[in-house]
Amino acid sequence: MNHPHAHRQLHDRHRAVLPDWLSLYYDDPVEITHGEGRHVWDAEGNRYLDFFGGILTTMTAHALPEVTKAVAEQAGRIIHSSTLYLNRPMVELAERVAALSGIPDARVFFTTSGTEANDTALLLATAYRRTNQILAMRNSYHGRSFSTVSVTGNRAWATTGLSPLRTLYVHGAVRGRGPFAHLSDADFTAACVADLEDLIGHTGDVAALIAEPIQGVGGFTSPPDGLYAAFREVLRRHGILWISDEVQTGWGRTGEHFWGWQAHAAAGPPDLLTFAKGIGNGMSVGGVVARAEVMNCLSANSISTFGGSPVTMAAGLANLTYLLEHDLQGNARRVGGLLAERLRAIAAGVDRVREVRGRGLMLGVELADPHTGAADPGAAAAVLEAARERGLLIGKGGGHDTSVLRVAPPLSLTVAEAEEGAALLEQALHTIR
Ligand code: PMP
Repeated sequence: MNHPHAHRQLHDRHRAVLPDWLSLYYDDPVEITHGEGRHVWDAEGNRYLDFFGGILTTMTAHALPEVTKAVAEQAGRIIHSSTLYLNRPMVELAERVAALSGIPDARVFFTTSGTEANDTALLLATAYRRTNQILAMRNSYHGRSFSTVSVTGNRAWATTGLSPLRTLYVHGAVRGRGPFAHLSDADFTAACVADLEDLIGHTGDVAALIAEPIQGVGGFTSPPDGLYAAFREVLRRHGILWISDEVQTGWGRTGEHFWGWQAHAAAGPPDLLTFAKGIGNGMSVGGVVARAEVMNCLSANSISTFGGSPVTMAAGLANLTYLLEHDLQGNARRVGGLLAERLRAIAAGVDRVREVRGRGLMLGVELADPHTGAADPGAAAAVLEAARERGLLIGKGGGHDTSVLRVAPPLSLTVAEAEEGAALLEQALHTIR
């Protein structure tokens, strides 16, 4: 266990050597030293129930023996790059991901992050369509590289306004507080589809529309079911590709569906699907799935030195096997459903809660001023701190205002842990009443 002084010193050293914009949660940031199941411990010995899973990277459970063993065994054999030699774990994981993706004639390319996965998807889409005009959703987050920042509509995370792509932002993912606020789902969908048609009419050739089925960083907001199916018809008519960014919504987290795009099933599978975060259960696995015709359109060799490295692939294989065999998607649906119910009941007693939303184990609690309806980022920051003091880690997100609490625990969450976390969150919410 660390001396408190050593912990404070580490924060000072962090500030001195890392970028100012590498923002940390909490006034006194947590130094996580180990984890088990749905819990993590900090350097001072405090235990936390983890309702954010390291930004959804710990998909299954902390220190899952099956993953640890697979990683240790592979690391004991060899740790190296993957791409110039045959790599059995990479081929095996690619086969399984291709079969699960729903994309016909699927090819898979592995990367080390969600950013790199989306970067590759944009590279493919622009090369295939021979235009760098992209459509993205308002309030979106797709990563932090030059190309992905330029399709990130959430201004809090769009770190530069300079862009290698021409991007136009489309309505549909967030209802917002503007002219769409009071429309029914059907009217909102119709308005957004008409707007999309109009936009494409003005724009000419477009490579792709990139969209998160449920916006993650944007505050766990979903479009009405079927909106992307309606969009897809328009896109198909114009030959525009659909990139579904499943970095947060993939692998069963949304409970009802294995992929987020399946909530809009009439849309059919996307042309390109990107994934990352939880599939490695904390190891750096990301990737793109695309129809062979799209995947193979690049005009020269392309590799990723570390993407698909055997150790990360071993983690992905063990984790995927575990989550399918233990039906963690079903668990996300059942336990997530109970948790959502509990959070809604708690929200009824806290007038600063504007909405509880989300699917499965991807739940958002939006806070707003009860009198004016204005977003309340101060309240969200205060609840985050109060929850931490009580032993609960959660996330936050939202548009410019960061007023949404994000709940995304490992998918193996038990009913008792869901109850415990809800009770801690209730206490934290009551501190801002
Ligand atoms: N897409 C989405 C939907 C994300 O939430 C994120 C990460 N928050 C990314 C892409 C980027 O992933 P990474 O941080 O692994 O680069």
